[in-house]
Amino acid sequence: MEKTYIMLKPDAFKRGLVGKIVSRIEAKGYRILEAKTLQLDEGILKEHYAHVADKPFFPEIVEYMTSGPVLAMIVQGNNCIDGMRMLMGATKTEEALAGTIRGDFANSTGENLIHGADSAEAAEIEIARFFGR
Ligand code: UDP
Ligand code: MG
Repeated sequence: MEKTYIMLKPDAFKRGLVGKIVSRIEAKGYRILEAKTLQLDEGILKEHYAHVADKPFFPEIVEYMTSGPVLAMIVQGNNCIDGMRMLMGATKTEEALAGTIRGDFANSTGENLIHGADSAEAAEIEIARFFGR
């Protein structure tokens, strides 16, 4: 059974969508093994988002991602790494299909409610980064 790292971003709290999003994950048959709120800082974001740290939009990501708590989760399930990416929807807001979390609830490529690890390797690194194991 796979494990992945999922994180609800600050807009999920601000918009009152935490419960709805967690429900979709559970309804798919995935289990939330652990969950905790965290307040991120620029240092951990530079690590977590190293692949976009040199992009012009990075300062906006830092401002957004430090604007309130996030919900860090370890999610377990059959094929849940790719499965969660499907459930989340595409990164570009215009490509996020209806029926996905981003497609149904987000309307911005930057402020897009949810993060999910994009490979088995990333899942392991991100679980270690945010849960220390
Ligand atoms: N992002 C952005 N503009 C872009 C691409 C990405 O603001 O053109 C932000 C967005 O919040 C995204 C995050 O940077 O979730 C990380 O980008 P990535 O390509 O890893 O997308 P994801 O894995 O979140 O779909
Ligand atoms: Mg990513």
